[in-house]
Amino acid sequence: PSGICLTVVVLGASGDLAKKKTYPALYALYHRGFLPPNLRVVGYARSALTDEDLRSRLKGFLKGEEDSIDKFLASCSYVRGEYNGSEGYEKLQEILLQREGEMMCPSQIVGRLFYLALPPSVYPQVCTGLRHNCTDLDNAADNPKNWIRIIVEKPFGKDLQSSEQLADSLGALFPEDQLYRIDHYLGKELAQNMTVMRFANTFYNSWWHRDYISNVQITFKENFGTQGRGGYFDQFGIIRDVIQNHLIQLLALVAMEKPVSLHPDDIRDEKTRVLRCIAPATVEDTVLGQYVATGDEPGYLDDPTVPPGSKTPTFAACTLYVRNDRWYGVPFVLKAGKALNERKAEVRIQLKPTPASLYLSEGMRNEFVMRLQPGEAIYMKTVVKKPGLEMDTEMSELDLSYTKRYSGVHIPEAYERLILDAIRGDQQHFVRRDELRAAWAIFTPLLHQIDEGALTPEPYDIGSRGPASADALLARAGFEKGAKYTWNPSAS
Ligand code: NAP
Ligand code: NAP
Repeated sequence: PSGICLTVVVLGASGDLAKKKTYPALYALYHRGFLPPNLRVVGYARSALTDEDLRSRLKGFLKGEEDSIDKFLASCSYVRGEYNGSEGYEKLQEILLQREGEMMCPSQIVGRLFYLALPPSVYPQVCTGLRHNCTDLDNAADNPKNWIRIIVEKPFGKDLQSSEQLADSLGALFPEDQLYRIDHYLGKELAQNMTVMRFANTFYNSWWHRDYISNVQITFKENFGTQGRGGYFDQFGIIRDVIQNHLIQLLALVAMEKPVSLHPDDIRDEKTRVLRCIAPATVEDTVLGQYVATGDEPGYLDDPTVPPGSKTPTFAACTLYVRNDRWYGVPFVLKAGKALNERKAEVRIQLKPTPASLYLSEGMRNEFVMRLQPGEAIYMKTVVKKPGLEMDTEMSELDLSYTKRYSGVHIPEAYERLILDAIRGDQQHFVRRDELRAAWAIFTPLLHQIDEGALTPEPYDIGSRGPASADALLARAGFEKGAKYTWNPSAS
């Protein structure tokens, strides 16, 4: 996009997200030639930093050749300002106007992308400051295609009511088509492949429904705990941190109907529609857990930043039901936990047993698995004839391992892709307000009960698979762990 004068303003440039995700993603896009030559990245925060301070803070987080990193950093500057009031934003506006005014080509589009890498508590004041001071693009290049967009980060509230309040206050300042709510799971390669796989292939649709599918698991596992940042986590818990946003977004992609077109709003219409079909999560269909000291490793409550006696879950498994023709009665189990035996995020669809099977098929259920991380893979656990003279069967797999099939292909970081989408004005992979409302409506009643202390999480060991009751919940959902499958990594 060379015909654009692009300024990305990173608000909260002094923070953790900015250095770990936002700037590295911008650099990766720059390095791969996806950003226009006429680019500036302006950092904004209260900390007393010079341009050079910011550059040297960022440098260690950017991966690439020194020359290219230095060139990118040369386009990065810093403005110090407060989040409240208008003084800082006036200064910012002056800098933006000056830069845009220096541009000699009137046919160029002016784009301003404001990335709020800040705690959501300051979003309303920051958006007010930006709206009143930094939206005037009145310069030589007054082009109707000029744009202003705002990227905001989760958490979008703590429940339905607070989320709606935040959405109201931002919505009063910027229309929905300028607000880009990031859920970085929507930027993951396999999340983006879900709609392509489902709707570009004939055969999925024929079994992608309640007649053939027994249960769906959407799982997020981390093999480390809160590691001294428990104080922050404790205000949210695993349901707000992972399930209500990332996993419910994956569920929407698995369960949605085919959209009318690939227009971002057509896709988001279908996602919203399917979320609205989901009955609120219940205590009966939920298992909560909290990891405890194991061996030498401290438990969640041993973290000095966690309030003593906290009942905040670090693990949750929750069965949801989509009340429509396609999915009626099919349990969707959303499961997430910290300090478990492995790190992974996957969607696992278990099919019903083969009816009137001619072969010994006990413990051999077809499963379709999309592993988002680590190591993207899509595989279908399939019964085959065991090679040899006998007519024995065994569980094998049809396998698409990305490292093998797409070896050497760069799979972009979720943030790279999403920032590029925002620059291109594509909201497909951003969460629309009504979608967010539907997601909160599913979890708010349960979250309120948890907040009131009505549920005590079950203890589980660090490095385990979580509380035993979670497997019982899965078994109730119809999941059967087939004993007859072994994976042969060397074959892949
Ligand atoms: P952070 O480091 O705590 O904050 C970013 C910057 O905001 C700080 O450098 C600070 O800048 C300013 N700030 C911090 N607390 C503030 C307060 N109470 N009032 C006003 N300003 C404050 O946060 P972060 O980890 O970068 O996260 C930013 C946003 O991204 C949050 O919404 C977070 O939930 C979300 N997020 C973060 C991550 C991650 O990996 N870090 C991942 C997903 C989502 P100055 O003091 O210099 O102004
Ligand atoms: P798996 O890791 O064996 O897990 C299968 C399912 O069974 C998961 O839902 C798991 O839950 C559950 N489970 C595990 N242990 C259980 C237990 N003791 N009781 C009840 N439920 C249990 O996955 P898999 O699909 O059968 O694959 C086996 C291995 O092969 C995995 O390591 C997989 O990554 C690998 N594989 C790799 C590829 C590839 O890279 N292309 C392809 C095929 C298979 P949790 O998730 O909660 O543990």
